[in-house]
Amino acid sequence: MLCYDVRNLLADPQNVISVDETMDTESVSFGSETYPVLDKPHVRGVIENLDGKALRCSGQMELTLQMPCSRCMEPVRVPLELQFEQRFIQSRELAGPDADDESEAEAFDGMMLDLTEFLNGEISLGVPMKVLCRPDCKGLCPKCGHNLNEGPCGCDQSEDTSPAWDSLKSLLKAHNNQDGQEV
Ligand SMILES: [Zn+2]
Ligand SMILES: [Zn+2]
Repeated sequence: MLCYDVRNLLADPQNVISVDETMDTESVSFGSETYPVLDKPHVRGVIENLDGKALRCSGQMELTLQMPCSRCMEPVRVPLELQFEQRFIQSRELAGPDADDESEAEAFDGMMLDLTEFLNGEISLGVPMKVLCRPDCKGLCPKCGHNLNEGPCGCDQSEDTSPAWDSLKSLLKAHNNQDGQEV
């Protein structure tokens, strides 16, 4: 699975390995959250020989995650299409005099190139910060937690009556009075 013998590729720069695989990923972690994978990541791309020592893997992958709507918490299908490109350098070249130039590259052992860890990292980077079940999702009632997409809950939604707002207003009033006295 996504582990390629690259000895022939390194021996002949004209060689190209084509990648067309489905990853066996059950879930994706992002921060403290874990999201189930609905459609497993399908990876398509190529591994090319750059200069006899370095390889480049580029392509795209498609997958579908299930994430909670940021407003109402209902599960949402989130299809992702991610482009990727990464250079891989043989580990022994990394230790050489040019090592500083290769900080962007990943290491491989010179025989096998395993893309699993790299691609899992790309998926984590591609997880959106926010998803909505629909553009006009009304979210949950802040008082009773009712899903407002299913209709009103009967709570009074006017902000002015909340105790937090009242105390903020009185704070502002006190602040303004203070300023008035100083002038
Ligand atoms: Zn929603
Ligand atoms: Zn309510």
